[in-house]
Amino acid sequence: QDVLVVKDLSKTYHDGENDTDVLVDVSFSVSAGQQVAVLGSSGSGKSTLLHLLGGLDSPSGGDVWFKNQRLSEMSSSQLATLRNRDMGFIYQFHHLLAEFSALENVAMPLMIGGASSSDARAKAKALLDQVGLSHRLTHLPSALSGGERQRVAIARALVTQPSLVLADEPTGNLDHQTGEEVYAMLTQLSQQHGTTFIVVTHDRSLAARMDRTLTIQNGHLTDTAKEHIT
Ligand code: ADP
Ligand code: ADP
Repeated sequence: QDVLVVKDLSKTYHDGENDTDVLVDVSFSVSAGQQVAVLGSSGSGKSTLLHLLGGLDSPSGGDVWFKNQRLSEMSSSQLATLRNRDMGFIYQFHHLLAEFSALENVAMPLMIGGASSSDARAKAKALLDQVGLSHRLTHLPSALSGGERQRVAIARALVTQPSLVLADEPTGNLDHQTGEEVYAMLTQLSQQHGTTFIVVTHDRSLAARMDRTLTIQNGHLTDTAKEHIT
């Protein structure tokens, strides 16, 4: 069962007189529950690819299917609903809402999806427990450490139990030790929920622990599946 199918995907940015071909006829598919790392040097197109997979940007050519739905055939409001219900996003900088508590930030995607406040808060609390933040529920993001904020962002991304989580350098802003902890939590939770997980990273040792690595170079993709040792 493929969660994502990408076919001949291309992206060219037009910037004044210059055209930049960031992705050229890229094709791959990702099966349910797979953990995929996206590697590539700075400016190689990793964020661009992630945005296209999440329907946040439109390709210049080719298609993305998410659970058999072709993103290019969906309206922006359908895409927004799809993202809120069935995708989770995690960024290098957490993008938490500054005026809301940790609990409210995590409950937000459920509330937007129409859940009752009590149901949303109960689920948010359960997930914050799982990321070890049961003592930080009423704290504002500004009162949390970098690692704690990123754990709140993880809880927010997973609270709707999405099929797909897209993460863009989720530990890039943290020191090595904290990054390792946050990353371990992220992979453990997505494994536990059977979530398909695609993470952009600079970190090869981190990528080596995923099921598979996609490396972008000069607009093309190298696909390396890891042999399972178990
Ligand atoms: P990465 O995430 O691997 O660092 P990006 O996907 O952010 O790479 O960017 C890939 C290339 O596309 C870079 O050369 C960048 O300057 C260019 N680029 C990204 N976004 C835009 C944009 N909105 N307009 C023009 N060029 C862009
Ligand atoms: P930066 O590259 O400045 O660190 P991030 O990669 O952390 O920025 O995240 C900002 C990105 O969030 C923007 O590039 C934007 O495309 C994306 N974005 C915009 N709208 C949404 C949305 N509704 N849900 C998730 N991400 C979004």
